[in-house]
Amino acid sequence: MESEHIKCLIIGSGPAGYSAAIYAARAGLQPIMYQGLQPGGQLTITNDVENYPGYPEGINGPQMMEDFKHQAARFGTDIRYGIATEVDFLGQPLKVTIDDNQALTADTVIIATGASAKWLGLESESRLNGSGVSACAVCDGFFYRNQEVAIVGAGDTACEEASYLANLCSKVYMIVRRGEMRASLIMQERVKKNPKIEILYNTVTDEILGQFSVEGMRVKNAVTGELRDIPVSGFFVAIGHEPNSKIFQKYLNHDEQGYLKTIPGTTQTNVDGVFACGDVQDNVYRQAVTAAGTGCMAALDAERYLVAKELH
Ligand code: NDP
Repeated sequence: MESEHIKCLIIGSGPAGYSAAIYAARAGLQPIMYQGLQPGGQLTITNDVENYPGYPEGINGPQMMEDFKHQAARFGTDIRYGIATEVDFLGQPLKVTIDDNQALTADTVIIATGASAKWLGLESESRLNGSGVSACAVCDGFFYRNQEVAIVGAGDTACEEASYLANLCSKVYMIVRRGEMRASLIMQERVKKNPKIEILYNTVTDEILGQFSVEGMRVKNAVTGELRDIPVSGFFVAIGHEPNSKIFQKYLNHDEQGYLKTIPGTTQTNVDGVFACGDVQDNVYRQAVTAAGTGCMAALDAERYLVAKELH
């Protein structure tokens, strides 16, 4: 395998990756970005973003990520398709393999690989994934117009998606495993006030019903143990995310959920020249604006590191 050498490699293309790219490019680090599995990141499956400063009327997620991309490209970021499939951070330069077949070496690596949706883990859930089971209401809700659907989860994402689905569907069952929700009060209120949303508290999913497509769900009351079959044609899962850190875990310190650890107040990991930003290292805030902020920090940290090592 022939190896290309890169001064500043950015892995991932959400708000963290693009912000890192903008700063790194403007600092002359000639960054090369590999966009990863989901170019643009999680915001490309979000509808309206209303809390990102600078957009007083809100903006839709995919458009926002296009804007980030254009800004990063304008300053010379080399933006490429490809997924980092393996790394070797034992020595310098750092080694990264793209798409299992392309070897790179880098002086600095900025990890901005974000997080991905979690699943319940039921056999019927994976079997019917794409045939009525989805983790993205904004992507797939349209297919269930005027039909009855369910959504599992009780955080802000589940509330947001339940409201979104209620605009399209005739009824939305919201399956909440405890007696209360985790979501912020304003989001809870929105869901509770919506006449199309029925909240099933203390309820867990026993099985998703249907052989080739979703026809219903069997839910269990967590208190009484009572089982109940409810017909639905769409089943949405919104139970949080896990960090995309698997290939790095062998080399980088991480918590028990896999979130990468950085030195507090910096984006520096335990390996020289490797920086982590955005949701892959943040299980607390997980906002586009905080991801962008840490992306900026990663580029500044990388620049300082390169200067100190006389590599820039
Ligand atoms: P959260 O981790 O906040 O919530 C996950 C939810 O899923 C919890 O209610 C949890 O239940 C439930 N859950 C987890 N596992 C299971 C399971 N196996 N079966 C049933 N239910 C399960 O994730 P979110 O994606 O909702 O939010 C992530 C972050 O993003 C939060 O900080 C949130 O505030 C933020 N966010 C903000 C938005 C906004 O401000 N517009 C929009 C969307 C997200 P339990 O409560 O019992 O643990």
